[in-house]
Amino acid sequence: MTQAGYLSALIPEEYGGLGLGVTEGAIILEEVNRSGGNAGACHAQMYTMGTLLRHGSEEQKREYLPQIASGELRLQAFGVTEPDSGTDTTSLRTTAVRRGDHYVVTGQKIFISRVQHSDLMLLLARTTPRDQVARKSEGLSTFLVDLRDAPADKFEARPIDTMINHETNQVFFDGLEVPAENLVGEEGKGFRYILDGMNVERILIAAECIGDGDWFIERAIGYAKERIVFDRPIGQNQGVAFPIARAYVNIRAADLMRQRAAALFDAGQPCGAEANMAKLLAADASWEAANAAVQTHGGYGFAAEFDIERKFRETRLYQVAPISTNLILSYVAQHVLGLPRSF
Ligand SMILES: Cc1cc2nc3c(=O)[nH]c(=O)nc-3n(C[C@H](O)[C@H](O)[C@H](O)COP(=O)(O)OP(=O)(O)OC[C@H]3O[C@@H](n4cnc5c(N)ncnc54)[C@H](O)[C@@H]3O)c2cc1C
Repeated sequence: MTQAGYLSALIPEEYGGLGLGVTEGAIILEEVNRSGGNAGACHAQMYTMGTLLRHGSEEQKREYLPQIASGELRLQAFGVTEPDSGTDTTSLRTTAVRRGDHYVVTGQKIFISRVQHSDLMLLLARTTPRDQVARKSEGLSTFLVDLRDAPADKFEARPIDTMINHETNQVFFDGLEVPAENLVGEEGKGFRYILDGMNVERILIAAECIGDGDWFIERAIGYAKERIVFDRPIGQNQGVAFPIARAYVNIRAADLMRQRAAALFDAGQPCGAEANMAKLLAADASWEAANAAVQTHGGYGFAAEFDIERKFRETRLYQVAPISTNLILSYVAQHVLGLPRSF
């Protein structure tokens, strides 16, 4: 995908990318999932570099973006989640302490994906202790960490075996030195920079779910037409056809919301509500389509050679990561509907 230029879709042409919008980037990832693959192995390259693009210095952009676009450098790792804070990101404990011309990073992260296949990691760490800032979202900073230089006694990534083929890791920083010039943007404003990139992430993930949903529906339709039981195709039974039809309806509705969110983003308009709603609707719809496909296939839905069970496991992730359904509902309740803050 890198060689074909797809992963540089969102990098501007002046830095060697295709200079396309999120609308087109989303179509690329959707197509991976639509054709039976899983874009989780590469999608982060599209959205992590957005933080660098929007908040990095001109020197950082000139140094890194062309190499990311050409595939010489891989920026696939995104280090935010921690074992003790989880979804409560601003309570993270990894610290980066300034010492002369570098920062010293100490702490632990969990579920950090693609580390073994990445040259760089975009890292969120606390630079000012929580009790010295007015709001806990302040005092966090974003760094570009070069994993190729990291000594084994100061940086370790331990793979976590998961129920899907997704390379993810527990990561330990033990006094890792990161050059001060690798700070992205201003010190203490990192949380805002990370949030900035999240709308793109939501839209891209929604597109992957829609790709999954259409794949499940195509497979379910094909099987429902050709499988003969009681001397007729199983799809002739409304008990089989309706769940597939309902999933299709929900996929199309989610698709409209994702297109709306992408169009708003590409027009430079606020799209937080639409991006979050698109991600929730698409993740629910792909899961519904996955269930319909398993049910339609009967016992064969569980046979590995049909791929249904693999995609079923893969699409389940999107209800949890990169953001869980509850957290999206919480965003909509508080920020869109004006209901009282919950946490
Ligand atoms: C395969 C995989 C890959 C991942 N890759 C990355 C990565 O590359 N980089 C990265 O930084 N992270 C990554 N993650 C982490 C992922 O973003 C988190 O798992 C996710 O955000 C949830 O955090 P948690 O697991 O700590 O759950 P917790 O925060 O412990 O939450 C557990 C459950 O409780 C619910 N919950 C918590 N608080 C509330 C509340 N106030 N109201 C209602 N419900 C609540 C949540 O919705 C969730 O369902 C990955 C995770 C997985 C599984």
